[in-house]
Amino acid sequence: MDSNKQMAELLFGNITKTPEDYEQAYPKRNLEEGAVVTRFAPSPTGFLHFGGLFAAFIEKTAAKTTNGVFYLRIEDTDKKREVENGVSLIVKGLNDFGIEIDEGMLSETEEKGAYGPYMQSKRTEIYQSYVKSLVEKGLAYPCFMTEDELASIRERQESEKVLPGIYGEFAKYRDISFEEAEKRIKNGDEYVVRLKSPGKAENRIKFKDVIKGEIEMPENILDVVLLKKDGTPTYHFAHVVDDHLMRTTHVIRGDEWISSVPIHLQLFYLCGLRPPKYAHISPIMKEENGGKRKLSKRKDPEAAVSYYSEVGYPKGAIWEYLMTLANSNYEDWRLANPNEDIDNFKFAFKKMSKAGALFDIVKLSDVSKNYICKLSAEEVYDLVTDWAQENNEKLYKLLVDDEEYAKAIFAIERGNAKPRKDIATWSDVENYVSYFYSELWDGQRDFADNLSNEDMIEILELYREVYDENDAAEDWFPRVRDMAVSLGYAKAPKEYKKNPDDFKGHVGDVAGVIRVAATGRRNTPDLYEILQVLGKDEVIKRLDEAIDSLRS
Ligand code: GLU
Repeated sequence: MDSNKQMAELLFGNITKTPEDYEQAYPKRNLEEGAVVTRFAPSPTGFLHFGGLFAAFIEKTAAKTTNGVFYLRIEDTDKKREVENGVSLIVKGLNDFGIEIDEGMLSETEEKGAYGPYMQSKRTEIYQSYVKSLVEKGLAYPCFMTEDELASIRERQESEKVLPGIYGEFAKYRDISFEEAEKRIKNGDEYVVRLKSPGKAENRIKFKDVIKGEIEMPENILDVVLLKKDGTPTYHFAHVVDDHLMRTTHVIRGDEWISSVPIHLQLFYLCGLRPPKYAHISPIMKEENGGKRKLSKRKDPEAAVSYYSEVGYPKGAIWEYLMTLANSNYEDWRLANPNEDIDNFKFAFKKMSKAGALFDIVKLSDVSKNYICKLSAEEVYDLVTDWAQENNEKLYKLLVDDEEYAKAIFAIERGNAKPRKDIATWSDVENYVSYFYSELWDGQRDFADNLSNEDMIEILELYREVYDENDAAEDWFPRVRDMAVSLGYAKAPKEYKKNPDDFKGHVGDVAGVIRVAATGRRNTPDLYEILQVLGKDEVIKRLDEAIDSLRS
């Protein structure tokens, strides 16, 4: 047996399957030309960052628009970062935003799909089989350096200002003999398995990033760790094995990984595997004091995706916004196609920002208003009720106590050519509907001060007489106008402006008094529709209350 083979048996005597076996177990996927197979691959920290959601959205979109596959792989090789129920929390995070997976982890223990296991801690033997074959080829070796040795190397490299890491003269065990390795292992010495990098400092590599374009970097010369002391893989190595065997076509991930691409490409090459395409997403940025910085988990509440569910942005609006951030031409497309399904937009990596998309909560709210104004009253009702059930008990009760009434409120000025844009989030709803519910409205009335109380009382008393709940929409305003004229108000603002001294005011002032009497507010959606929803008894009651309050 040659010494590399001997070494491989020494380190991995228990590993019997070969990379070829896995090659057969996970065959090439049978998909149409151009189908994107990609994944979301978080650590099970349970925390879904807005940047993670953005990445998952891009990944899902890339797969969906090409009839490909989007899967969820859990990268739990770093046990220190794990939290209890971390997988379920991530799955829930994705579900809350309607990002469905085709394959992968469904909870801490369940998964679906033929390319699993989708949890790295269940794949140890697979990684070891690939490392074993590298050792057999003399491309990997056991390294027995202690923490102290590593620390002193790091110190020396820092003071000499040379590339940190294990390579060249620092790679003490690069040429370790089988005999020495055997002796140390028998002695119980701990070791990691390192790559024996064939890279040369003077070489450069080029690759084409799908988002960032052509990138040139120095070749990897580091003997990076492949397997840690406990036999589990590092991210670098697990990525190569997993993305190959899961037949990923596009690795779409944060651009903090760009600097590792030379390592990854070298590992693919040495394992005899074809690398996937890389698409590195720039971080989401935020404007601050005239400059830009990364959206920060520490400083920005909107960095955690739970923020959006709590405040109550509908997931459809979040999708709209994510697509706006993803592709610079999306907004124009949306303007030209206001009623098209978002799925009909042709997403393109090339249209992604290289510098990092700018997060803007005001913009998000605008997008959300535009989205919500197009929903039907039933849809708004269902979504608000779902949200309120978890986030606003008082509102929830009112909504379910009288579903018909609530739907009638949401139907006001909805479904017409220019629907109103009063609601950006479900948290806005309580205030938006408050005057419809005695439980929410304090009865305060914000009358304008251009008319005297006597004038207002006169208007309301007369309106109380002439008000007819059976008026059709087109008859309602003429009735108010006739009434206004009979009381000495101009029938139109224009007429009033010409001869202000001839009138007490104009019809708008009169309607304004009725509006405040019925709702407390000077600005509301269509008053006729509001009065219809309130119903005769309530309208009369409110007019009386208003008259009383003006008298006192
Ligand atoms: N587990 C890595 C992370 O959370 C995944 C990067 C990747 O998508 O490959 O950053």
